[in-house]
Amino acid sequence: MKSSFLMTPGPTQVPSQVSLAMAQEIIHHRVPAFGALLKDITEKLQYVFQTQNDVLVFPGAGTGAMEGAIVNFFSPGDKVAFGIIGEFGSRWAKIAEIFGLQPIRLGGEWGKAVTAQDIDLLLSSEAGKDVKGVFITHNETSTGVYSDLKSIGEVCQKHNVLYLVDAVSSLVAIDCKTDLWGIDVVITASQKALMTPPGLCFFSVSKKGWEYNQEAKCPRYYWDLANALKSLKKPTPENPYTPAVTLLFGLNEALNMIKQEGLENVFKRHLQLSKMFRTGVEALGLELMVKDEKIASPAVTSIMIPEGIEAGKITGFFRNNGIVIAGGQGQLKGRIIRVGHLGYVDAFDISNTLITLGRAFKSQGKALNTEAALNKAWEVYEHE
Ligand code: PLP
Repeated sequence: MKSSFLMTPGPTQVPSQVSLAMAQEIIHHRVPAFGALLKDITEKLQYVFQTQNDVLVFPGAGTGAMEGAIVNFFSPGDKVAFGIIGEFGSRWAKIAEIFGLQPIRLGGEWGKAVTAQDIDLLLSSEAGKDVKGVFITHNETSTGVYSDLKSIGEVCQKHNVLYLVDAVSSLVAIDCKTDLWGIDVVITASQKALMTPPGLCFFSVSKKGWEYNQEAKCPRYYWDLANALKSLKKPTPENPYTPAVTLLFGLNEALNMIKQEGLENVFKRHLQLSKMFRTGVEALGLELMVKDEKIASPAVTSIMIPEGIEAGKITGFFRNNGIVIAGGQGQLKGRIIRVGHLGYVDAFDISNTLITLGRAFKSQGKALNTEAALNKAWEVYEHE
């Protein structure tokens, strides 16, 4: 018998409380009990999104929400800007292109961040004239870099453009003050720090977002957010189509757990565990891909694969030993491995991952100092 413990940047481990909640009998989605559940969940989602804006939930993958965030607010021909620091920013710009928007791609160097200054420069230039929206990936899961949403928000407000954030792998793991930082649209999905299985995605939409929505001409049916809002505002709240009721039972329990821990404490835990892990990785003698602490993600860490070692052998060793980690994506395939430390994760999970890293490299003929790594990692954990 083998476990397959998830230390991937999504899907993540699901707490047993959440699984148990999903074991309950299904209810119909056009009855008052479902309305009460949806209302309760929506209020808790506003807490984790840190917003008074409308929050909508759909059955779907994060990529569905990426598409929804384009078709609901823009029209073919609209000029929009994307901060691209990895796979997911690239994907978002591609979706925009498919719907006939004109994306301007900023950045492009994987492992670096796009800054508020980069965006300000673009929006102040001739090329950036008439840009209607700025799209930012909060946590670039393919590299382990995160963006400074607050300062980018100030620039978006200065230039009066719609500000859209992909928080799929960051919401709840990394602070995202939707209202305070002026973020008009935030999207996320269930299978990351929300500790729920894959299958739900979410949108928060500001007043300005709804104004854009009224003008937006991109075709949409399933992802029609205005239609979803109408259903949510009924005396008995509902979804326009059949919702993923079982996943919503689980999500409700996960949100209870997050509320109980307190959002600030959840952020602190992620930061503490990422520092613990980064310290351990360096003490093992491995190279972190993102060296700058200021942009290093509290949710996912990328580790460079040394010359002569096959990345697939390392991820394979992990799998055979009951832990799943991820390889590199796109241009980083074979060059890095990625460890997710988000959601339902604690210091023992980090410690076990460091031990397994040591064993995996040893199996490939590269001896690492696991004992030193564990000592340093736990020291950081205790002092953070
Ligand atoms: N955006 C980011 C930052 C992600 O990490 C992911 C998935 O890992 C997605 C979007 C796409 O989500 P999904 O795989 O659920 O479509």
